[in-house]
Amino acid sequence: MKDPYTGSCLCGALCYEIKGEPITVYNCHCTECQKVAASAFGMSVRVGSEDFSITNGIYEKIKTIADSGSIKTGFFCPECGTRICGKSDNIKFVVVKAGTLENPNWFFPIAHIWTRSAQDWFPFADGLPKFSEQPENNEELNKLWQKRSL
Ligand SMILES: [Zn+2]
Ligand SMILES: [Zn+2]
Repeated sequence: MKDPYTGSCLCGALCYEIKGEPITVYNCHCTECQKVAASAFGMSVRVGSEDFSITNGIYEKIKTIADSGSIKTGFFCPECGTRICGKSDNIKFVVVKAGTLENPNWFFPIAHIWTRSAQDWFPFADGLPKFSEQPENNEELNKLWQKRSL
């Protein structure tokens, strides 16, 4: 157990910590994650809302409609624009952007989701389970995380 895990935005003004272990970690190839990451996909660290706290700085919020249709709130640094996490309405977890962790090697993803919008060149060479959209049952990604080989 390494917790609390810490992270920050690009400029370092907005810092957070995660107490306890993640619920699951996966790569999301949805079009929103591609925009937010300004890259091919987003790596998501799902943590309990009560385990996540801002330890320094202030954040701005933006509401968007995800590919799944749910309304999401993104939290970002007003100074540098880095999004550190997001949250779907009515869901009791926070999705932390893995690239903002102090050490992005702390967690390895257990699946790829929204592969139907993955970029054509993406190699998927890791043998991880793939879901064309959001898994129907939210628990599915949590179970894969629990079964991962450590
Ligand atoms: Zn910043
Ligand atoms: Zn996504």
